Amino acid sequence: MTRLTSWVESANSADTDFPLNNLPYGVFSTNALEPRCGVAIGDMVVDMAALEAEDLVLLHFDPVFDVPYWNDVMDLGPKTWADLRARLIELLSANSPDQAKVAPHLVPMSEIHLHMPLVVSEYTDFYAGRHHATNVGTMFRGAENALPPNWLHIPIGYNGRASTVVVSGTDIHRPNGQLKAPDEDLPTFGPSKRLDIELEMGAIVGTSTDMGDTISVAEADEMIFGYVLLNDWSARDIQAWEYQPLGPFQAKAFATSISPWIVTSAALEPFRTSTPEREKDLLPYLQEPKPMLFNIDLSVILQPEGGTQEVIARTNYNTMYYSAPQQLAHHASSGCAMNAGDLLGSGTISGPEKHERGSLLELSWGGEEPITLQDGSTRSFIEDGDTIILTGHAQGAEYRIGFGACAGKILPAKTKF
Ligand code: CA
Repeated sequence: MTRLTSWVESANSADTDFPLNNLPYGVFSTNALEPRCGVAIGDMVVDMAALEAEDLVLLHFDPVFDVPYWNDVMDLGPKTWADLRARLIELLSANSPDQAKVAPHLVPMSEIHLHMPLVVSEYTDFYAGRHHATNVGTMFRGAENALPPNWLHIPIGYNGRASTVVVSGTDIHRPNGQLKAPDEDLPTFGPSKRLDIELEMGAIVGTSTDMGDTISVAEADEMIFGYVLLNDWSARDIQAWEYQPLGPFQAKAFATSISPWIVTSAALEPFRTSTPEREKDLLPYLQEPKPMLFNIDLSVILQPEGGTQEVIARTNYNTMYYSAPQQLAHHASSGCAMNAGDLLGSGTISGPEKHERGSLLELSWGGEEPITLQDGSTRSFIEDGDTIILTGHAQGAEYRIGFGACAGKILPAKTKF
């Protein structure tokens, strides 16, 4: 895991999220530039549309970077993804002969606005963290029924909404919905009182499959373009009343936030790690030919209105029971067509320890054990004005592959009824 050296000095510091080894893909604008594809390097962003216009990067006879999404690059396939990464490393390496041509097209991060890095085709959310599933199952159904009988055999998921996937920095209104506490006879309609987060990774599918086709886990791994941090905002009171028998609906449909930089599978390659030992053998179509998870340190930060940022949970993506390639292979296994731009949420990432829990539902144990913040206030769930920030990076000996932040602030509900 050697750090690659760049002529962009800020990319060579040990604690930057964006060394030359990373090169994540985003969409940015400035006061002068329309939204377009960019690549993060240190504290700068490479204007890919400008590089393409000057023939420094040529992927296709039609321009693919002068648009506000990376889907056109995804459509060109894994061979082109590898060529692009190799070319960017060449252009940005120390002693690159092209430094003088590239340097005018770097924009300081302090001057940019970040946008959604892709057009999300469809969004599917899984439930693949064993500690999370056990904790939530214990609270909702009791310890003896915590893990449903299918859980150790199937990466369980549900089809979510692409329409409300938003980029970090987008404010979220508290959702409304039907609420009914166990001791109430009838439901009422109003703002959720148990608004929560879910710390997840999002896998971005980069190539498509035809309806009727199935894929192996190895093929699924090659289809994944990259990963982002994902916050699957969840209204626990709406969820508890609506979820049987078809799973979450309005409890999760109102918002999903993602981090602005797509970290490529290629950048994460040195950090591969295996899923844990299987308690039940998986069917052959779900078996992994090699390690398919990644070692990624993750944190959840809460910032009250006008207050300071405070870490409320730390965990690692390596605690998941199912990997994204397993989830993708399962998703296509019925013959379901998958598309470039599909987003797969990993499921909440919780470790075995209390401070490793990736939701407030678990951190406060359903509200029975509120957490205390530095300012003395307590939280069982999220309050209006709170900002939640997810951060993550894969830590190597000489560098780290960072994701940036996935932040969202909760505003009061818009209530009409
Ligand atoms: Ca979720």
